[in-house]
Amino acid sequence: MPDRFNKAMVVVAHPDDPEFFCGGTIARWVREGIEVAYLICTRGDKGSNDPTMTSERLAAIREQEQRAAGRVLGVHQIQFLDYRDGELEPSLRLRGEIVREIRRFRPDVVITTDPTTRFARGIYPNHADHRVVGDVTLDALFPAAGTRLYYPEHLAEGLAPHQVSEAYLTVTNEPDLWVDTTDLIDLKIAALACHASQIGDMAALERRMRENVDPRAPSPDGRPRYAEGFRRIIIRR
Ligand SMILES: [Zn+2]
Repeated sequence: MPDRFNKAMVVVAHPDDPEFFCGGTIARWVREGIEVAYLICTRGDKGSNDPTMTSERLAAIREQEQRAAGRVLGVHQIQFLDYRDGELEPSLRLRGEIVREIRRFRPDVVITTDPTTRFARGIYPNHADHRVVGDVTLDALFPAAGTRLYYPEHLAEGLAPHQVSEAYLTVTNEPDLWVDTTDLIDLKIAALACHASQIGDMAALERRMRENVDPRAPSPDGRPRYAEGFRRIIIRR
């Protein structure tokens, strides 16, 4: 990571993605004084099989759950885009909206999902929205956000070009950077618990979280450590 950085933005598809994928890292960064913002491209409006649930009601519930989970981790700047869950497509419009939020918040580091992950850990199908948001966000980071003539209407809105230094890709099969989150596992679980509409059995989830240490994570002292792995992409040195 850059030796010191002040601001990080998490750009993902669904409410609950930040906490599930990298809640420990976010908590650690906030504790270190780094300002973290979320950009969530949908409101997760298809994430229920309850026959009495509607997409409209679910979207409202999930927005509130996401804001509550952010508060647990110390993230208060949470923007939503108005795309429908399960329908994200690579488009110049989506790229422009991500560029606008990058130019507004001006992060040093952006976390997004690895667009090359077709099967997580080689066996789990990865959600199409996760692939799309990662792909479009990387195109937003380079070259669009830092280049003046991309989306020139942003200049009229008072938003200057902004070059992000690094992207950290989560849900990756090629992690090359690990953030130790061992002392933040309780906070991560507390944040996840805010997403009640998505969790059938919280006790079982908590057990799974505590028992399943990622076998790929380094363990300098031989003891199991909780850690979140990322693939690090350098945008600008
Ligand atoms: Zn998701």
